[in-house]
Parts: sequence; C-alpha cells; structure tokens
Amino acid sequence: MDIRNCSRCGRIYVYDGFNICIKCRQEDEEDFQKVKKYLAEHPGANIMEVAEGTGVDSKKIINFLKEGRLEIADDSNIILTCERCGKSIRTGRFCNQCVLDLEKELKGAVRDSGLKQQNYKAKERIRIIDRRNRDK
Ligand SMILES: [Zn+2]
Ligand SMILES: [Zn+2]
Repeated sequence: MDIRNCSRCGRIYVYDGFNICIKCRQEDEEDFQKVKKYLAEHPGANIMEVAEGTGVDSKKIINFLKEGRLEIADDSNIILTCERCGKSIRTGRFCNQCVLDLEKELKGAVRDSGLKQQNYKAKERIRIIDRRNRDK
C-alpha cells in the first residue's frame, strides 16, 4: 500500500494514481458537474462566464481543460499548442502522441510549475467533451 499526502489538502490517503485524495477529487467532480450543467445551458460560454455563473474558480476550470475534460469550442479561433512538440491541439496540454510518450513519466510527478495558464485565456469559449465516446 502506498500512503501519500494529498497535494492539495495535505491529508494522508492511499495513493491510487492521482496526486490528490478522494475527498478533493469528489470536490473537483462536483465542480465539474456544475461547469457541465452551466455549459449545457449556456453553450459556448467562455471561461470567465462559466466561473462567474458557477462560482467555480477559473483556475480550476483551466485545470479541467488541462485534464482534457473540457475543450475549446469548435468555432473558437484560438488554437492551443502541444507544450512538448508544438503541434496544434484543442484540449489538454500535449498532443496525443506526446501524451502517450509522457504518460508514464508524468504519472505521480509534481507538475504545473511555471506553465500555468500559458495556453488558456479567460475569453476562450469552452465546452464539455466526453472522452469515453471519442477515444477508443
Ligand atoms: Zn485532499
Ligand atoms: Zn506533442
């Protein structure tokens, strides 16, 4: 059993592949559901509007983007680039190929230093994606 401290709240938890504990993840999940609901009612809302409408911190919404749970809307002309190879992407921080390459080394590592919000701006319109239907 791998016991670690949650990188957000500092509580001790049994490590299961995530850097934060189950409680913090549940919190994230609740916030994600709020964002999802808001976007269903307000398609094409931008990050700022979603943050105001849901009370969810815009940093957290950006995190959802980085986690690939949200993506920039189709008709948005802002194109993100892979932080590793520079290829154009619409969600997350890396292109699919780099994700595969980096998956193992990123897992469990402390990330996000110095790269915060580099690719996402408050005006970017976002939408929910469902990875389960898209990949594989
Ligand atoms: Zn926690
Ligand atoms: Zn790449």
